[in-house]
Amino acid sequence: MALRVNDSEFYAIDAHSHLGQRKTPLGHGVASFLGDDLVRNLDEAGLDCAVAFPLGASYTDYSEANQIMADEMAKYPKRIISFCRINPNFGPEATAKALEHCLGSLKLKGIKLHPEIEFFDPNEAELMEPIYEAARRYRVPIIFHTGMSSKASPGVIAELAARYRDVPVILGHMGVSEYVKLAVAVARQNENIFLETSVVGWMPLLLEAFRGVGTGKILFGSDHPYNPCPWKRSQST
Ligand SMILES: [Zn+2]
Repeated sequence: MALRVNDSEFYAIDAHSHLGQRKTPLGHGVASFLGDDLVRNLDEAGLDCAVAFPLGASYTDYSEANQIMADEMAKYPKRIISFCRINPNFGPEATAKALEHCLGSLKLKGIKLHPEIEFFDPNEAELMEPIYEAARRYRVPIIFHTGMSSKASPGVIAELAARYRDVPVILGHMGVSEYVKLAVAVARQNENIFLETSVVGWMPLLLEAFRGVGTGKILFGSDHPYNPCPWKRSQST
């Protein structure tokens, strides 16, 4: 399957989606969203595959959720690229062990971090270095939630990311709105920093990013199912 735009076909990847099961449903009622659901929606949208990570949850080390990510990727190896989610607050030792398991044994393909939900400072070297070291060793990217608080500002994240120039760092939501300009600036300054589009709904900001860093550093993301898209394609003839 490929996405057709005019006369061109593209291999289309959604770089930001989530899978998992929650005790309390999301605001729009979604409590369970697994591989079957995601792949059905990808088919409806004409997308080839999606990068997915666990849904956010209250204080957890995400070990069960990360196992689900591995299980769902095993069911759909060509459609789902599963990342693990790490809560650095469990400490550097627990983080290193969890990453060894997730990247080494479960063979997950990247790391998702959320400085706001998990409440940590993305510049706190003691907590963060094991994460960058594991990403370097397993040659996987890190995607951060960015925006909506100064803790998740692209400028803060870029400080440590700049010291690990061989680790690709994706700024999820490219700062949402208030931090888009800063996200564009740090992506221009750092070869290893990339931008992802989900939640940025205001076209002038998106265009500013495309003008600022070019298409080669911008990944399409939806944040499905937090931010469900109108997945049904119009039946054009
Ligand atoms: Zn998300």
